Amino acid sequence: MRSLLLGAVADDVTGATDLGSMLSRNGMDVIQVLGPPGKESTDDVEADAIVCALKTRTAPREQAVEESLAAARWLMAQGAKQLFFKYCSTFDSTEAGNIGPVAEALLDLVDEDLAVVCPAYPENGRTVFQGHLFVGNRLLSESGMRHHPLTPMTDANLVRFLGRQCRRPESVGLVPYEVVDRGAGAIRAWLAKLRARGVRFALVDATKADHLWSAATAVSDLRLVTGGSGIARGLPANFRRTDELPERIEARLPALGGPVAVLAGSCSEATRAQVGVMATRHTALALDPIALAGGPETVDEIVGRARAALGQGPVLIHSSAAPEQVEAAQQALGRDKAGETVEAAFGKVASGLVESGVRTFVVAGGETSGRVAAALGLRRLRIGPEIEPGVPWTLHIGDPEVRIAFKSGNFGSDDFFLKALEILEES
Ligand code: ADP
Repeated sequence: MRSLLLGAVADDVTGATDLGSMLSRNGMDVIQVLGPPGKESTDDVEADAIVCALKTRTAPREQAVEESLAAARWLMAQGAKQLFFKYCSTFDSTEAGNIGPVAEALLDLVDEDLAVVCPAYPENGRTVFQGHLFVGNRLLSESGMRHHPLTPMTDANLVRFLGRQCRRPESVGLVPYEVVDRGAGAIRAWLAKLRARGVRFALVDATKADHLWSAATAVSDLRLVTGGSGIARGLPANFRRTDELPERIEARLPALGGPVAVLAGSCSEATRAQVGVMATRHTALALDPIALAGGPETVDEIVGRARAALGQGPVLIHSSAAPEQVEAAQQALGRDKAGETVEAAFGKVASGLVESGVRTFVVAGGETSGRVAAALGLRRLRIGPEIEPGVPWTLHIGDPEVRIAFKSGNFGSDDFFLKALEILEES
């Protein structure tokens, strides 16, 4: 029986998938657990890493701490050697939390005195220099994140900002660029100095990919690492160096055969373009909230039409609509009811299609994905090959046996759905 190496707690679902995909791409066998883990054990599955996908980014602070601790305890009970706390590379949080309070609670849990904080991901335009986070060529506080509806980021100095979230502001220190640039040995020595000064969280400067590799190497013996998926990329190599992680070829999943359905509940520009491309080649059925809410059309009819079309190839069912149509539906039904009508419909459609023999799904939209996962009772997913960066195919471990890809609304190129279908045929 292989032992679990890395246990990760992610503060949102698409972030968890992104991390899982990153670890998988770098040679780990990864399982993603959706929602807080219960009492189940993983004795029946083998994995190098387990990523728990929570929804704690904007939850009340106490709840975020409690749920993160419960997930971390569970991961440790499964034998995790190192814990990773995953948050967004734009450090999405508020003055009150939740990154600082959760990180403090996790550090207490592992009974250590220092963890690193590394949101940087230079290839994606997230760099940290002298403690300041940049998005592209702008300070975080001057980027679009300044106006985020839930977590507006108005201070790019993360030493100061994280300090405000922590019990003691002086518990946050910096590993500056000059040190990081000299490599893993220099970072380790600096961490020892910070530790001696009572620093508990060391923010790591990183302006290029090499810096992240050095940082990842330097944290091999820390029990807790916190950051974005950038630094996580380098963690599998640490376990390979100690022979705990074997060399492995790319993740593969069995093709399940049978019909394929694409469910798109996102109205983002990216998803609407993807819907447009797929609709030129395959059957496309539209879900209209007004027609569904007491109108002439029922979800059963849509499922019936989808079922009839499944014999001819993949079927697309979507509610993706232009902003004017979305607004019209929201005015007619109210914003919440319009959204709820569509989400509930997708849940029912997914269940109905599984009953009709569909075993392979692509789902577009964060909320839509959550609803479909809940309707199908999906709890544990094995991460498979990536369709595009950050969006892997996954396989449900348990009943029903389904292969499913969750894509956040904004992700992916215009022919994403077609690519997903092609990769399916290959792997
Ligand atoms: P994204 O990842 O793009 O944010 P989500 O699935 O998270 O996508 O959110 C899309 C939201 O919009 C859901 O609540 C969904 O029910 C709602 N929605 C989808 N289509 C329509 C529509 N045609 N009219 C009104 N609301 C819609």
